Amino acid sequence: MGGTFDPIHYGHLVTAEAARHRFYLNQVIFVPSGRPPHKLSHKLTPAAERLLMTLLATVPNQDFIVSDWEVNREQISYTYETMRAFHQHFGDEAELFFITGADAVLEIMQWRQIDELADVCSFIAATRPGYHLDDFKGSPKLAAKLFFMEVPALAISSSDIRRRVACGEPIKYLLPETVEMYIYKHGLYRDI
Ligand code: ATP
Ligand code: MG
Repeated sequence: MGGTFDPIHYGHLVTAEAARHRFYLNQVIFVPSGRPPHKLSHKLTPAAERLLMTLLATVPNQDFIVSDWEVNREQISYTYETMRAFHQHFGDEAELFFITGADAVLEIMQWRQIDELADVCSFIAATRPGYHLDDFKGSPKLAAKLFFMEVPALAISSSDIRRRVACGEPIKYLLPETVEMYIYKHGLYRDI
């Protein structure tokens, strides 16, 4: 599961756990992005802090692990390169799934290297409030690799959490308490 995780929240965690259960996954690997190509303009919290918050949030789940592969790369991270590296690392016997929200999956299907990406992994798209999946009109090859999964409607987003912190509104119960404490302790998102 890739993302900026700025910060990680229960929307991400519920989706990951639902995918793990539903698709019998051995592990969910959270991969905080380095500098994602589509968020170049957006002011991003330093990768080291996003990585730390992701670690804090995933500690209680035995089957959740965190990879620093993307944050340690100098260049812009492309999901295709990350997935190819994971494929090489785990070998052919491992089946890889890219877990994503339904909002992101429609964009992903437009990526230039989508066919190469689909050669190394399948996609699990979680429905998210406000997004509709009826719009998917990809090739049969892509359609065969795309699985939809409904998760409890969680209208939680990192951008809303950042806005709440900046406005002094509560974020309690939207994300793990340790992550909430980390945000306040380090003064993240105070001026956004
Ligand atoms: P931002 O508001 O900054 O865009 P975000 O909450 O969308 O942040 P990302 O780090 O961009 O979080 O998302 C990583 C992945 O998690 C994406 O595939 C996204 O679609 C998915 N996702 C985010 N929030 C939810 C949610 N509440 N339920 C299900 N999936 C989600
Ligand atoms: Mg997003």
